[in-house]
Amino acid sequence: MRLMFVGPPGAGKGTQAVRIAARYGIPHISTGDMLREEIKNGTPLGQQAKAYIEAGELVPDDVIIGMVKERISRPDARDGFLLDGFPRTREQAEALDKFTSLDVVININVPDDKLIHRICGRRVCRQCGATYHESMLENLKQCPKCGGELYVRDDDKEEIVRQRIAVYKEKTQPLIEYYTKKGLLEDVVGSGGIDDITEAIVAVLENRK
Ligand code: AMP
Repeated sequence: MRLMFVGPPGAGKGTQAVRIAARYGIPHISTGDMLREEIKNGTPLGQQAKAYIEAGELVPDDVIIGMVKERISRPDARDGFLLDGFPRTREQAEALDKFTSLDVVININVPDDKLIHRICGRRVCRQCGATYHESMLENLKQCPKCGGELYVRDDDKEEIVRQRIAVYKEKTQPLIEYYTKKGLLEDVVGSGGIDDITEAIVAVLENRK
């Protein structure tokens, strides 16, 4: 199954993507995670991406397209994958169409006022990458799963988050129409319990099989 999740920052794409990818045994391909890894490793690509990410802007299309093309060509993605955070522009979507095809696009809808609250309270584990909202945590510094250090992403500060949401509306939201026209889009309500949202996504996927 070749899936893609679309939705504004804070919609819960990452959280749901981890669960759905595990359920269907397909790799979770998050361009945001890949870029953060490149930055952590100090690679040339990471150095190029850093300033864009910290400003809440998109990394240039050619950089991202090359990175995803290489990732999708690996053997573990042969029978399917879940794209999280890619494509984010029409250029990226058209490039993707040239090297693979998607079976379903899940659009996770969350009202704007909830997005800021969700992202600004987000904590990420440096070790295992798990994400939490601070309201779920007893200890804001330590990952309850692996004991790793929790941190706040530099681009999760409120003014950057507002910029990321504006960029989403301008550049990524038009993809909803793009995939609707192709008959691939499925809407899922992204507010509510994490388990309920996972089940809603599974229901949509099972229906399309
Ligand atoms: P995310 O973890 O998906 O919220 O991505 C974090 C940041 O990485 C974004 O705000 C962008 O700066 C960059 N990024 C991730 N995916 C893409 C993409 N497909 N195109 C351009 N920039 C991206």
